[in-house]
Amino acid sequence: MTTNWNFEATYLELRDIFYDRGPVHPVEAPELVLFNDDLAKSLGLDIEAVKQDVALLAGNIQTDTSFSEAYAGHQFGHFTMLGDGRALMLGEHLAPNGKRFDVQLKGSGPTEYSRGGDGRAAIGPMVREFIISEAMHALGIPTNRALSVVKTGEPVMRQRPEHGAVLTRVASSHLRVGTFQYAAAAGSIDDVIALADYAIRRHDADLEGKPDRYEQFLRRVITRQAKLIADWQLVGFIHGVMNTDNTFISGEGLDYGPCAFMDTYHPHTVFSSIDREGRYAYANQPYIGSWNLARLAETLLPLFAETQEAAIDIANELLNEYTETYKEAYFTGLAHKIGLYVRKDGDDALTDELLRLMVETEADFTNTFRALTLRDTESLAFANRDDGKAWLAAWRKRLGEQGLPDEDVTRLMRQHNPAVIPRNHHVESAIQAAARGDFEPTHALLVVLRSPYDYEADYGRYVSPGPPRTVPYQTF
Ligand code: AMP
Ligand code: MG
Ligand code: MG
Repeated sequence: MTTNWNFEATYLELRDIFYDRGPVHPVEAPELVLFNDDLAKSLGLDIEAVKQDVALLAGNIQTDTSFSEAYAGHQFGHFTMLGDGRALMLGEHLAPNGKRFDVQLKGSGPTEYSRGGDGRAAIGPMVREFIISEAMHALGIPTNRALSVVKTGEPVMRQRPEHGAVLTRVASSHLRVGTFQYAAAAGSIDDVIALADYAIRRHDADLEGKPDRYEQFLRRVITRQAKLIADWQLVGFIHGVMNTDNTFISGEGLDYGPCAFMDTYHPHTVFSSIDREGRYAYANQPYIGSWNLARLAETLLPLFAETQEAAIDIANELLNEYTETYKEAYFTGLAHKIGLYVRKDGDDALTDELLRLMVETEADFTNTFRALTLRDTESLAFANRDDGKAWLAAWRKRLGEQGLPDEDVTRLMRQHNPAVIPRNHHVESAIQAAARGDFEPTHALLVVLRSPYDYEADYGRYVSPGPPRTVPYQTF
């Protein structure tokens, strides 16, 4: 069954401090340049009808269901009042399967929350977000998704003039840790309760009406975030701006701006030039996740217990579960990456030692696990070192103890070790071509990134880490 848009706006049941319904800001000459057929299909949409309606995807049309959301957030540790400064929700699309999806424009013009900004976006970063979110989805990592990129026909002023663009993105909601911080800071306890009940209805409806629903809700968010961040670590992904306003209650990732996948493995890797202190470095991501969740817990304290002391005890107990859940997901994932179905005592030491060898030999993160999957161990830089040989021997011995046919081991490894990731040099050249009006490199890259675990495909140049850099890669 296909349909056109089927929009509602249940979010508007919240008090009006939570949103702005300002006018739209039509653009000159909208032109559709990227469209995600696969996503449109999964939303039950009539692809041709939706593509025809470029004016809607450009933000030129005022609808009954559109709004921009207010939120706050800790940005690099500093609390700020924010909101969708360049985003407009078209509405919540009800898909034929009964699921509700927020459909949001990014780059659609100024709102009440724009502060000094122009409310616009340049084509390059919108194409980047399209590519990375599709790659994430194909990797099986929870993420919002990109439906389209529309060129506005108007320039935007950045370091130099660039083509303006509007991205349409789809998420199970846009409720953030920062939305709760906003409710607590700008509203009353009743607003926090209303928001929590709304979030529970959207994401954890089975908790509705339960006396301990707010605790259980926090536990769910903690679990989702712990698993998301473990997923990121396991593919060498560095988000770059893990601010609380970029942390979704749903556990989906979002805002793929300064992010990048690591080539050479090092725990201290940072790509974003604005992250001068390395707050959001690879190895810090799990800790930042916990910090962000503590900010959410703070907003919910009055909902947990009569006295603050009792509420803090409840929150701390839940927050402690984060570490357990994260470690379980991360170390089990690492065990799977080296072909171990069941993680046993000693396996964490085995994977730790592999990571140490990778740091010492400046190994490529993705290609090391890919080589292990292919049993192409000779290509590994550590294969000729004594400690490397010792590791390979210990690994083979541990695999032997499983007593499983080799094809079962290989199957597990293929499922957990992508053969391709969005390599920075390919993403950059696709973005640069797109900025010149050539979308072929983006399409070619997307084809590859949409089946990252396909070891039968010939990915050619897409698996190579690219030429050595004289200066470290920077995204911002
Ligand atoms: P981000 O870094 O995309 O997570 O954005 C952080 C905050 O800055 C959000 O409130 C955005 O809406 C806002 N923002 C980013 N770029 C612009 C812009 N060009 N105009 C207005 N607001 C913006
Ligand atoms: Mg308002
Ligand atoms: Mg953001």
